[in-house]
Amino acid sequence: MSVLFISTYELGHQPQLAAEVAAELPEGSLEVLDMAKTPLSVAIEAINRASRVILTAPMLTGALVARDLLASLDHDQPERQLIVVGLYATVLKESLQDPPAALWLNRATAAELATLVQHPSVSAQPGIPKATGRRAYRVNRTPLMGLDSYRSVRIANQDLVTGYLETSVGCRHRCLHCPVAAIWNGRIAINDAEAVIADGLAQIEAGAQHLSFGDPDFLNAPKHSLKVLTTLAQKAPWVTFDITTKISEILRHRDLLSTLAASHVNFVISAVESLNDDVLAHLDKGHTAADVSVARDLLYANGVAMHPTFVPFTPWTTMGDLVDIVDFIVESDLVQVVEPIQYSIELLTPTNSLLPVNETDFGPYDASVMGYTVRYQDERLPRLRDRLYQLAAQAGEDSFETTFAQIVTAVYEANGLSAQCVRTPKVSAPSTAVMSEPWFCCAAPAAPH
Ligand code: SF4
Repeated sequence: MSVLFISTYELGHQPQLAAEVAAELPEGSLEVLDMAKTPLSVAIEAINRASRVILTAPMLTGALVARDLLASLDHDQPERQLIVVGLYATVLKESLQDPPAALWLNRATAAELATLVQHPSVSAQPGIPKATGRRAYRVNRTPLMGLDSYRSVRIANQDLVTGYLETSVGCRHRCLHCPVAAIWNGRIAINDAEAVIADGLAQIEAGAQHLSFGDPDFLNAPKHSLKVLTTLAQKAPWVTFDITTKISEILRHRDLLSTLAASHVNFVISAVESLNDDVLAHLDKGHTAADVSVARDLLYANGVAMHPTFVPFTPWTTMGDLVDIVDFIVESDLVQVVEPIQYSIELLTPTNSLLPVNETDFGPYDASVMGYTVRYQDERLPRLRDRLYQLAAQAGEDSFETTFAQIVTAVYEANGLSAQCVRTPKVSAPSTAVMSEPWFCCAAPAAPH
């Protein structure tokens, strides 16, 4: 038996689910094809010759790649078993005029996927959440491309080979715009700590100098995740880490920040989304604009950097919000850290979103972005969104500083302000580490539409 696993897009790291499925199947029976590294034509040829296929649709970018691939699928192969899995699986299906015969699973464990491909007669209930709690964590990274093929983290002018692991899946929170929340609905499952530690050590043995914890929120189960982190830091004190957590969790667990720092966590990715309290309330983010500065100061005081992510363009955005964001970036000494694309991201509202879709805030469904269009209060906003997207897209090899200067000019001019008014840093970031590939929490950039 041979199974083809096609990973569409995983934000630049190794496809974690592929490693977990490989561990559940007989050695050598899983072929992994990563579309982030493979031309579409090669993937089309591979999917049309395979009899058992697992295709991922983790978030919008991955779902768009999957859609391109499915458009070239040979429909005259009734024997082929196709499983489409990921948070966007059913959203992708709904966006297709003629969806192929497949199992569309918004979430499934590796063991469930392995059972389905080994015993195709076993039925699955797409989209029905299974029980959560503790779960085994088995990985086999042998069929994957090496760590040096994936994103690296640059710290102090050194590009560090970067690994990836997860102490948990799902999220306790229910931010209304979040695709994780739409599927997990406030639940999590904990990966076996000893197995995660063993995976981290194996990646370090394979050359990892930095490890990214990809839990949707690392502080969902802090005792558990910190056990993994502190053990790895003790066994490999030369390795640095990054984690992702909410602004409100940084505030709530402020007493744990010194442990993060002592364990060589270099930076914390946090979904700020907006600095407009009205927007934050609509998204039910659980933090205010004032909380963001407090969280930043707490992190910096402990010597840990902050990597904020944003969803600046929403139905409730005002023109002044963009000024607030670029000012915050300057004041926080984050110009070198925040990827230019972050300033142009628009709220995604797929059909399964927890956000109430009303006609005041949202327009018709747009299959090209697999969601409802945003209705803006100010007609200048979509023009500014497109301009910022264009600046980010054409940045190429330009430094973040160069592109940021153009973004500030565009934002200030659109608000009738002079770019001379730009403020100066109020605080110093403890580190200017950057990833070689941008990271999006619950969002994905979309070209102007
Ligand atoms: S935005 Fe982050 S914290 Fe909120 S539900 Fe999604 S993963 Fe959890």
